[in-house]
Amino acid sequence: MSKLPQEIVEGLAVSPGAAFGRAVCIASQEFEIYRLSVADGEVDAELERLSQAVEVAQQDLDSARDSASAEIAGELGGIFEAHSLLLSDPGFLGRIQTQIRTDRVNAEWAVHETATDLAERFRRLDAEHLRARGEDLIDVSRHLQRALGGLSHQDLSEIEGDFIVVAHDLTPSEAVRLGRERVIAFAIETGSRTSHTTIIARSLHIPMVAGLAGLTHKVTDDDPLIVDGDNGRVILHPEGEAREGYRAAETRRRARWHRGVRSRTVPAETLDGVPVTLQANIDLPEEITEASEFGAAGVGLYRSEFIYIERSPDLPTEEEHLEIYTKMLEAMAPHPVVVRTFDLGGRKLAREVMHTAEENPVLGMRGIRLTLALPEIFAAQVRALLRAAARGPLQVMLPLVTTVEEVRAFRRLVEEAAARLEARGVEHSADFELGVMIEVPAAVWIAAELAREVSFLSIGTNDLIQYSMAVDRNNEHVSYLYQPYHPAILRMIRSVAAVGEEAGIPVSLCGEMAADPDCAPLLVALGLRILSLTPSTIPEVKEAIRSISLKELKEPVQRALAQSTAEEVVQCLRDALPSRYGPLRPPSAASD
Ligand code: PEP
Ligand code: MG
Repeated sequence: MSKLPQEIVEGLAVSPGAAFGRAVCIASQEFEIYRLSVADGEVDAELERLSQAVEVAQQDLDSARDSASAEIAGELGGIFEAHSLLLSDPGFLGRIQTQIRTDRVNAEWAVHETATDLAERFRRLDAEHLRARGEDLIDVSRHLQRALGGLSHQDLSEIEGDFIVVAHDLTPSEAVRLGRERVIAFAIETGSRTSHTTIIARSLHIPMVAGLAGLTHKVTDDDPLIVDGDNGRVILHPEGEAREGYRAAETRRRARWHRGVRSRTVPAETLDGVPVTLQANIDLPEEITEASEFGAAGVGLYRSEFIYIERSPDLPTEEEHLEIYTKMLEAMAPHPVVVRTFDLGGRKLAREVMHTAEENPVLGMRGIRLTLALPEIFAAQVRALLRAAARGPLQVMLPLVTTVEEVRAFRRLVEEAAARLEARGVEHSADFELGVMIEVPAAVWIAAELAREVSFLSIGTNDLIQYSMAVDRNNEHVSYLYQPYHPAILRMIRSVAAVGEEAGIPVSLCGEMAADPDCAPLLVALGLRILSLTPSTIPEVKEAIRSISLKELKEPVQRALAQSTAEEVVQCLRDALPSRYGPLRPPSAASD
């Protein structure tokens, strides 16, 4: 038990639940590498530093290989072998030494320059196994940088028992990888409720608190802490009372979960008899079981990019795609499954897939743009979608659409894929329903034109808010401006719902607003009849929908739409909505 005093650090509640355990601090930020000049007389010493770092890095690798081989015998052996060879490769090491000698630079800079340059050349090669060598180079250079900086490599497989990850930042792929280890909670300095890292934490049921400024300076490895993902705080060195409170909250949570499962067959219907379809957002295939448990009427959004993230740096094959889609169709039958084509780019594997570092990736090669730019990679997914469509009610949805041409370009890829499958004599169907996500203001304004091209629209408010408010959804400094209740956002949602009514096609909403029991009734009142949300949030949202009368909400919602500020909108709704599911959260907290 720790003798240090208890301390509470407030952050944002982003993934529910609480966990009590010990901290493991992860340095996930890239190394900051500076170019430093080395005086003539110090070059030999710098070369000696490098050779010592090589030795340390080699020892690191050896111990990682020894601990891994027992668990995953053989599978990782080749990677460790390749990394070891690189550490003694004259082509790699020799170049670093030459650079230190000729440019008179520090070893860190020489390692960085050499590895980046060589990795970039490997990545441009056609052969996949050679491109993977580029990744190896980067990995090895990280080992070297750690050794040069005197930092010991933190290998999670060496840590015993369950633990809480404390970090400045985590990418979605790190969250998936760590979430599959023995991690029981995340406590992160950056982030927001709609960042993809957070979405993954919720998918894996890992409590998470984000926006914990300065936390990594307060916590050291093995410190005991409680991560309270319901109330958005971390308790360092918790005392007896805090631990008791944590246990009681856990018991209440479990009871709520079981109540939710029992309510699976209760219809989602307003008091005045308007039915609402509640579908599941799925990030990882295993969540499909939960979608069934909570009575989801199909999958409204399968974020297929996580197939790529999980397989990275390898690409998923057509068969792997097909297997996942088929399992989902079987589990959800007779309901439909909406597969969103891969939405990579932005923070999701941008560098790994694009092999470039974009200045502003969120406004760059992301979503449909990236998929159309990489038709060879995309083709495997498209063929698998066509094959799965022959097996059940599969629907396809395109992310981040900004132009009608993108939809047409996708249809051409479908025709090509269908022709290939036809030639191979493989069963498929090109007759699936195609939809687009409405995630940028441009798409809102051409929603009627898009509606003529597709069978359904789905509003992605996570991005729609980001791109409308010009607020990075992952940036805690501007999270106060991430306002779901901003009149501009509500008017856009209403306008897209009206386009759907006019065109006679369904409009769903699959952003986090749909998972918020305060907000869901408003979305229904704005005209939406299909909401897609994290499976475990279905019961609460259903309860909220069952407590409203659309007739009674009509007038206050009209009034809300005419307000000038998010604060005023919330006030209107607070007056109108029944208090039984609690007061609406203020807009600033709605993005937490
Ligand atoms: C959205 O933008 O609202 C959405 C559902 O997509 P994602 O969160 O994956 O960007
Ligand atoms: Mg989106």
